[in-house]
Amino acid sequence: MNLIIFGPPGAGKGTQAALLEKKYGTKQLATGDMLRAEVSSGSELGQRLKAIMDSGQLVSDEIIIELIADRIAKPDCDNGFILDGFPRTVKQAEALDEMLSHMKRHLDFVIVLEVDEGILINRILQRVGENGTQRSDDNAETLKKRLDVYHQQTQPVLPYYDQKGILKSVDGMAPIEDVTIAIEKIIKG
Ligand code: AMP
Repeated sequence: MNLIIFGPPGAGKGTQAALLEKKYGTKQLATGDMLRAEVSSGSELGQRLKAIMDSGQLVSDEIIIELIADRIAKPDCDNGFILDGFPRTVKQAEALDEMLSHMKRHLDFVIVLEVDEGILINRILQRVGENGTQRSDDNAETLKKRLDVYHQQTQPVLPYYDQKGILKSVDGMAPIEDVTIAIEKIIKG
């Protein structure tokens, strides 16, 4: 089973992807986590990535597409994957289709977490990392930029998948367990 969990920043994509990975063994692939790992490595590329991420802008399609193409080909994705934070542009969605067709694989569903953005903003501003530190891009100014970028560059990906008939939406404002149940209903048909 190959899924995309879709939605604006703070919608709960990571939480749901991690729960589904635990339950079904489908690998969570979170591009934001991969980028943050590169930033933590202290590399020169990491420093450049951090500046982009802290501004709320998107990292270039080329970098992200290469990152995902390498990752998706690893054996731990043989049992399926859940993309979290990718694709974020139509160009990324097209590149994903191309890599999957080379691999003779396909996407089963694109699941959109529908949320109230006003409530969402408060949710993100309260979000603290597991180690108790707040993400450096979780501040009011960057958040506003990230939402703008979502509306301008990421939402246009939705009609792309709608045309393919694989777009499904769930209420992302429901309690975490209920969101998971709604997703499971979709994947079990
Ligand atoms: P996230 O953890 O998914 O909210 O991602 C944090 C930041 O990483 C984003 O604001 C972007 O700067 C960058 N990023 C993550 N995924 C992508 C992607 N698919 N395309 C471009 N930039 C990305």
